[in-house]
Amino acid sequence: MLGRTKTLFDGVRAGKRDALAKAITLIESSNPSHQEQAAILLQHLAETSTKQVKPTLRLGIAGPPGAGKSTFIEKMGMKFLAADQNNKVAVIPVDPSSHISGGSILGDKTRMDELSRTMSAYIRASPTRGVLGGIAEHTADVISLCEHADFNIVIVESVGLGQSEVDIDGAVDMLLLVVPPTAGDSLQAAKKGIMEAADMIIVNKADGELLNAAKHTKADYGGALQFIRLKHDAWIPKAMMMSAHSGYNLDKVYEEITNFHSIMASNGGLEQKRIKQARQWAEGQYKRLLIGRLENDPIFKENMQKMDNLLIGGSTTPRSAAASLVSSLKWSVNAL
Ligand code: GDP
Repeated sequence: MLGRTKTLFDGVRAGKRDALAKAITLIESSNPSHQEQAAILLQHLAETSTKQVKPTLRLGIAGPPGAGKSTFIEKMGMKFLAADQNNKVAVIPVDPSSHISGGSILGDKTRMDELSRTMSAYIRASPTRGVLGGIAEHTADVISLCEHADFNIVIVESVGLGQSEVDIDGAVDMLLLVVPPTAGDSLQAAKKGIMEAADMIIVNKADGELLNAAKHTKADYGGALQFIRLKHDAWIPKAMMMSAHSGYNLDKVYEEITNFHSIMASNGGLEQKRIKQARQWAEGQYKRLLIGRLENDPIFKENMQKMDNLLIGGSTTPRSAAASLVSSLKWSVNAL
């Protein structure tokens, strides 16, 4: 390992925040040499890691903007810290929509004031714009760095209006959907996909004038959940109301989260999910690497050009052009 990477390695291992921040910046960089350093760093951290007795908790929070996700995370984060003095909480807000639109709404508001002033918490926005691979893969790397820096609770917050909030589930153990109370047809607020991915639905803002609406919204979600395909045999997702402002039901939601985690840890569900995530990531990665190499191969490039000429000339169909491009692979595959 080169000097800079070694310094980062030591810093992350020692749980130093500046080293963790630098390491995250490294994995976010699209510069090939940074990518290479990041890969070495992650590999080395993985190789030298000692297996934790108690598994870490990776919690995903999704929901529409304004539902109170960051307020919830602030309160729940503080709750985790108060529950055990050995707990360390990292929060990673990711913006799935920035992946598509190129924009990012991260950092627009002052978020999680109390948590950000606490020494055992670490908050780091991780813009997904321009990152190689999918959101889940990228987030998984950031989670892994936080865990190597000794954060045992990592909360991933889906910020923004992404259709792909469900992607976050590819990087976490448990996905919470936070929704606001709504009058009328509340289920409009959530798409079926996200409801299927959610391990629990939290109707936030169950306080003051909104309490009644929250009760109805909770009943609506509870009803709808009965028709949702179960993600795990051992867990039936439920809808609960709470108020991040007043703290109403905060303890109960906390109990549900820790309960889910210990059930999944003891029945092997957690390990299975993580293995599945790792497998999916490796698969996505090798496909990207393979295509990347192919497209840089001179013979393949030449055949692409030929294919393009045939298409322009109208003498072939896209289907046959693609097929002949693939069958020409045996000539270029040695170059891979
Ligand atoms: P996010 O966009 O989902 O992260 O939502 P925020 O946490 O930024 O909260 C959006 C707004 O809802 C803010 O004005 C919060 O003060 C407010 N809010 C959050 N939690 C509650 C709650 O439990 N009750 C009420 N009444 N308002 C809340």
